[in-house]
Amino acid sequence: MGTLPDYADREKLGRVAWDGSAELNERRLDLVRATESIKGELSGELDPVARNEAEKGISLHQLADVLAGVRDLAAAAYDTLRERWLDRLLGMDRAHPTSSCHAAYVFRLTPLADVYTKERATDICLATLRNLGFDLDADPNIRTDLEDRPQKAPRPSVIASDPPTVVHLITRPLGGLQDYQDFLHEAGHALHYAGCDPALPYSFRVLSRDYALTEIYSYVVQSIAREPGWHAGHFGLTSREAETNAEAARFLDVFMFRRYLAKLQFELEFWSRFATDGGSSGGYAERLTESTGLAYRADRYLADMDSGFYSADYLRAWIRSAQLRARLRDDIGEDWWRSSETGELLRQLFREGLKPSSEDVAARLGFEPYDIGPLAAEQSTPPLESVAD
Ligand SMILES: [Zn+2]
Repeated sequence: MGTLPDYADREKLGRVAWDGSAELNERRLDLVRATESIKGELSGELDPVARNEAEKGISLHQLADVLAGVRDLAAAAYDTLRERWLDRLLGMDRAHPTSSCHAAYVFRLTPLADVYTKERATDICLATLRNLGFDLDADPNIRTDLEDRPQKAPRPSVIASDPPTVVHLITRPLGGLQDYQDFLHEAGHALHYAGCDPALPYSFRVLSRDYALTEIYSYVVQSIAREPGWHAGHFGLTSREAETNAEAARFLDVFMFRRYLAKLQFELEFWSRFATDGGSSGGYAERLTESTGLAYRADRYLADMDSGFYSADYLRAWIRSAQLRARLRDDIGEDWWRSSETGELLRQLFREGLKPSSEDVAARLGFEPYDIGPLAAEQSTPPLESVAD
């Protein structure tokens, strides 16, 4: 669905694929019930929400509540971004609301693909990291596999086999801005693992308690693609074009944030009533559709659910990476994204490996864990006045 150029073809494929997928829902539900029963038995905590809160050391309800504040504050800015970019990427004839089956296509930002070519992705991303003081090519701890081979899986990934000395970074550029964002994202993970203190015990180098910590660093490096100066500097664009394209990256980020927040809210409802109804879809389509402005189907509720409230980990990283950027802007300035001082600050954080929680990192940055000021400020930034085509 991500590559079909025709709107109607994507609708048709979406319908067929998701009708077929929904037939597996009974089996998915069996698996969810069996897994939940084992987890309850092993932990002695039968309430799935309480169990996950204890594991993560946070209140999931509090997290959802404070982030709903960000969502509401930024709603007007998001509505403008969404309408503008969906019109531009899908055409003015699209349905309102537009089906979420177009989301993967929107993420490819096809109209911008001729600028963000796959041939240049690796060099530009390596240059971006060098500006921060990280020479990925020369880092003996990071083994890169960046070439385009036909049989290679397109999904970029990091495999931290024995951090800090054995960290694999695998990407395969396919074309489009997404390649650059993915590369920078995975590089953030790789640098984090490869930057941990080798004297740390095995558990603090290898075993993450959740994903809320390492995603801070992937998010912050990935967010360089939302800086207009990065687009202007590497792609020979005018400042107006650069601002426009940076805004596209910002739209996708805010869309994902709103999607994950809706997922967390639904998962809280799903698990809170699980003991009485055994798992039901109520609220899924409503929450996702309302929060993102794309139309979601209720029968996607199980296929779209990650175990262990992953959604909450990603959302914690959204808060924290915005706090980190605020700190970098304060300490280093608006050019933080091309300053070796940023690299130095990140190196200090990386040394702690997987030991701190995401909330511990807030204290290192001088913020309260739920200080959503920086995230709210970023997301409610007014959109550009109008987009040049
Ligand atoms: Zn990641």
